[in-house]
Amino acid sequence: MQLNVQTLVVMDIYTLLLVGVLMLHAWTRGRREATLGYLAAALLIGTLGTVLGSLRGLGIDVVPLVLGNVLLHLSAALTWTALRVFTGRRIHWPGVVAGMVVWLLLCLLPPFYESLALRVLVGSLTMAAYAVLGAFELWRSRAQLEVDYRPALVLLLFHGGFYSVRAVFDRGMPFDTINQDNAFFAVLVLETLLYAIGIAFVCLAMVKERAELSYKRASLRDPLTGIGNRRAFIDSAEQMLVGCARLQRPAVLLLCDLDYFKRLNDSFGHAVGDQALAAFSQILSSRTRQNDVCARIGGEEFACLLTDADHGVALVLAERVRREFAELPFVAGAQLSVSIGIADAYQADFELTRLLSLADQALYAAKAAGRNRVEVYRATS
Ligand code: GH3
Ligand code: MG
Ligand code: MG
Repeated sequence: MQLNVQTLVVMDIYTLLLVGVLMLHAWTRGRREATLGYLAAALLIGTLGTVLGSLRGLGIDVVPLVLGNVLLHLSAALTWTALRVFTGRRIHWPGVVAGMVVWLLLCLLPPFYESLALRVLVGSLTMAAYAVLGAFELWRSRAQLEVDYRPALVLLLFHGGFYSVRAVFDRGMPFDTINQDNAFFAVLVLETLLYAIGIAFVCLAMVKERAELSYKRASLRDPLTGIGNRRAFIDSAEQMLVGCARLQRPAVLLLCDLDYFKRLNDSFGHAVGDQALAAFSQILSSRTRQNDVCARIGGEEFACLLTDADHGVALVLAERVRREFAELPFVAGAQLSVSIGIADAYQADFELTRLLSLADQALYAAKAAGRNRVEVYRATS
């Protein structure tokens, strides 16, 4: 295969520029995700570095050798920074400038400046180091990332490996041979091109996946109390009941409705009502286990599905919640209380709609009996 090096370099510049501009566009849209901003900067600075680097042989070697390479080092450092930011870490400025500073200092030494082989060696090792650092950032944060980081990891390790191999075997291509077809140089330019496209694509995918996850979470959470909303409750409770029915594990539902809540709002204002909702949700969450599904399923209505618990256990828990809420020090003159209905999943054949209806009947009985009480559903009630 014969690939013209100059054509490839031009392709490289256009590709870097195009991907950089697209990344800049992606960054300016939506939530201005910093990862995409740093990546856009890396790609655009890389474009400029490649343009300047391609000016070898014009008699102003200081531009391609010093400035061109400094920009390429900065580009690699910013790609690493983008991954650092993605994993929630701060920018490591000494690390960002280290590659550039080392390069500039070395260029002050004539033996280095005049040796193509030495320049290729140091440049390749720096590129490899930044790529491996990027992979390291993903690897050490893998437990918290919650997105598929593996394509980015593979890409970064491949890029790091490629430049490590280059550091060992490449002694550089003198300028007077640049116009000759050179297979290794062609592979080098192609690798840069594919790496730029690849890293942009995988980072965009990771950022998008994370954003989708956060929107999904937000759509399932009640912003006032921080616990699940009705949709979250239906999703989780249905799944839980299917599992319980299959394994014949007991489950029980608590349906809670704050008493005279409209009156509380009318007398003390909506903000105080909101405080009462948050306080109740706090009590309910602190009294239940991690595996129980608790949610605010309506204005002042809460539901909690307990697994591996019968109505005896649920009754004790509900009584404690009721008492704690009624005894909560709150705004002077405001009396808080809650009524709770309990129903056993066995009585509803582990079907959520039916279970909710049975618990609602028990709740109605608690309201009818004077409120601030707990009632358990019985077939006759
Ligand atoms: P009962 O004892 O029979 O349950 O009477 P209630 O007043 O608690 O019940 P009702 O259904 O008449 O009123 C519920 C009130 O809850 C009406 C509504 O304004 C209020 N509410 C619903 N959502 C919110 C909210 O997010 N914040 C506040 N502060 N109030 C809310
Ligand atoms: Mg209600
Ligand atoms: Mg109420």
